Amino acid sequence: MVIRTEGPARTCGVPEGHTIHRLARDHRRKLTGGPLVVSSPQGRAADAAAVLDGGVLRDVDAFGKHLLYRFVTTEGDQRTLHVHLGLFGRFRPRRVPPPQPRGQLRLRIVGARHAADLSGPTACALIDFAEEDALLARLGPDPLRADADPTRFLAALARRRISIAQALMDQSVIAGVGNVYRAEALHAERIDPYLPARELGEERAAALWARIAEQLANGVEDNRIVTAPGARDQPVRVRRNEAVCVYRRSACWTCGGAISSDKLAGRVLWWCPACQPPAVTAPSSSATR
Ligand SMILES: [Zn+2]
Repeated sequence: MVIRTEGPARTCGVPEGHTIHRLARDHRRKLTGGPLVVSSPQGRAADAAAVLDGGVLRDVDAFGKHLLYRFVTTEGDQRTLHVHLGLFGRFRPRRVPPPQPRGQLRLRIVGARHAADLSGPTACALIDFAEEDALLARLGPDPLRADADPTRFLAALARRRISIAQALMDQSVIAGVGNVYRAEALHAERIDPYLPARELGEERAAALWARIAEQLANGVEDNRIVTAPGARDQPVRVRRNEAVCVYRRSACWTCGGAISSDKLAGRVLWWCPACQPPAVTAPSSSATR
């Protein structure tokens, strides 16, 4: 049996920002406008479902890997549902009427023509204004948002001694980047992943931001991650991991050289030592990796 999921096939781990923004876009299109039947078949989100049931979804906001569903309840109150998919969360599109709930179904949202089932999220709860402020204050700028401020990204990098590869996975530095885009963006910009973030310099950091923004936007459009040059234009269905340059590959898409991998802060990092050589160090220093 084929289980259809919204968003691209997940190569591993937490979905990256493009999946979240794509979900926001799909749900905005399919679920806003009319009254919704909201339930929690599993019961763990029963309180939130009871508040939102019968209400209208006004909008869906995405910030990095977080989704905020803006409801107006039957009482006329504005309430926000916070969803973070985490490692195991999935939204599945359903027809109307949806099938009998199966498994651990946290939330079911049913509109006139479309429905969505949410299972396994890390977070699915109503949040108030203070909680939303606190959540957003913890997040760095999200390149997929029109209101993102890249100067915050540049400033955050300039302050950090950790490697650029580690910094990109810190959601307070930049929101929405995960393991795949980290590897692909650093490769596209030919940046050594072990370069200390603060040594990147403003010009290269700005170019990296632009590259990540472009790659993520393509991901929203394509509903999959395609970063290999020229691969987006190919009509053929590119199989998993074949349309990236370094992530989980043995040979570099660009130069054919052997890909290196290493565990960094608990996540595997892939890079091409030929395309992403260490920065040339001054003769007096003896930098080690
Ligand atoms: Zn290479």
